[in-house]
Amino acid sequence: MKDYVTVVGGGLAGSEAAYQIAKRGINVKLYEMKPIKFSPAHSNKDLAEIVCSNSFKSNLITNACGLLKEELRKLDSLLIKCADETAVPAGQALAVDREKFSKLVTEKISSMSNIEIIHQEFIGENLFNDNNEDIGPIIIATGPLTSDKLSENICRLTGKDKLYFYDAAAPIIEKDSIDFNIAFFGDRYNQEKKKEESMQEWKERINKEEKSYINLPMNEEEYNVFYNELINAQIVTLHNFEKREIFEGCMPIEIMAKRGEDTLRFGPLKPVGFDDPRTGKRPYAIVQLRQDNEQGNLYNMVGFQTNLKFGEQKRVFSLIPGLKEAEFIKYGVMHRNTYINSSELLDETYNLKTNKNIFFAGQITGVEGYVESIASGLVAGINAAHIMQKKEKIIFSKNTVIGALANYISTYNSKFQPMNANFGILPPLEERIKDKKLKYQKLAQRAIGEINLD
Ligand SMILES: Cc1cc2nc3c(=O)[nH]c(=O)nc-3n(C[C@H](O)[C@H](O)[C@H](O)COP(=O)(O)OP(=O)(O)OC[C@H]3O[C@@H](n4cnc5c(N)ncnc54)[C@H](O)[C@@H]3O)c2cc1C
Repeated sequence: MKDYVTVVGGGLAGSEAAYQIAKRGINVKLYEMKPIKFSPAHSNKDLAEIVCSNSFKSNLITNACGLLKEELRKLDSLLIKCADETAVPAGQALAVDREKFSKLVTEKISSMSNIEIIHQEFIGENLFNDNNEDIGPIIIATGPLTSDKLSENICRLTGKDKLYFYDAAAPIIEKDSIDFNIAFFGDRYNQEKKKEESMQEWKERINKEEKSYINLPMNEEEYNVFYNELINAQIVTLHNFEKREIFEGCMPIEIMAKRGEDTLRFGPLKPVGFDDPRTGKRPYAIVQLRQDNEQGNLYNMVGFQTNLKFGEQKRVFSLIPGLKEAEFIKYGVMHRNTYINSSELLDETYNLKTNKNIFFAGQITGVEGYVESIASGLVAGINAAHIMQKKEKIIFSKNTVIGALANYISTYNSKFQPMNANFGILPPLEERIKDKKLKYQKLAQRAIGEINLD
């Protein structure tokens, strides 16, 4: 076996992984194709480039991303340390001076004598050579805009025709935040009300039997208010490489709405198949939410892929009856993304199940966001180092955000989609706490108590 670990991609995940390996006394060859070649979103020659917003989100531990950062501080994350050192005022959030941040990470990594940075596009044609004995442990952390040739070889490695191109995702909502005085469960095509049942009996039966969809009925007035706000809401500015033809199947809801006042009522908001249990009459429109995870505590908004700004999504979608107090654990996005089906391919250490020498880290694994990418780089880095040191794998507790995220992406899910840090992926507390702030405090205390490297 080689006496070094190869890390491919000097972004957020790859830089963290390289640091974790090197600080354990192991040599690293870090491949970064910049400045020879740039992805459509990268432009700075330094490592760990921040491609868009300069925010690493909340610093509060009662926010899942804030808690994840606190866990990473405890685990000696280089990138969070650099972010803290280059922070700019942003209230309760951690925002960085992006130039200073990338420069500092580059200085720290370059100053480690056992990291060799190789500025070259890594193609990966030898990724499938007999269990990689020839190249030793490798971490692929080439991000959402992985170069084409490497993407092709990753497809061959993972036995897929193509990597997952995630262009459109709808917002995800925490079930407990939905108003069930208005909402009711039930599948549109499985809603025959038994003749002898009253509306109330029918609702109770359906709520018990059929949990895969939640329905939010609207009357004409409610629909018109929602519709007018939707067509006038602000949308995000797209990068040039993201402007492309829109497929009918994943059209942003606001664009579909602009085609005509009733287009949504003949599309994703069609009121067929149900009566409103409160009135016994067919509603004017229905929004459906589909179960999003095994646990059944998260639901996505069917047909609501969107380019609306996050604040606008909260404002406009909260107008839908039943969603006034909705907790959006993830907003809808439409952008280019490249990721493998980790839920089939990886274990909780981001290690390929079929080849113990190959790890993936960062956005290519289906974790989403700067801090989440750093977290996965840290886990993969520590575990690649452990292979070299012939030590046991480190699997973080599912009660921590870092462990819950690793568990989420490595748990089989036929509708696998990228995931960010949120409290919905943590196992619930034993006691049921209604007060949200207190609940998050307890979850944070539990997580911090269980974060360790044993
Ligand atoms: C346009 C856009 C906007 C985004 N905005 C946000 C945001 O506002 N907030 C947020 O949290 N997340 C955002 N993301 C997601 C963001 O990309 C990730 O959160 C994060 O940067 C992913 O880290 P990573 O290490 O996986 O990938 P990156 O940070 O992208 O790093 C990958 C690195 O690999 C290199 N590379 C690629 N292919 C090869 C190869 N074959 N050989 C060698 N090197 C290679 C690249 O040059 C790059 O330096 C955005 C993504 C995109 C594309």
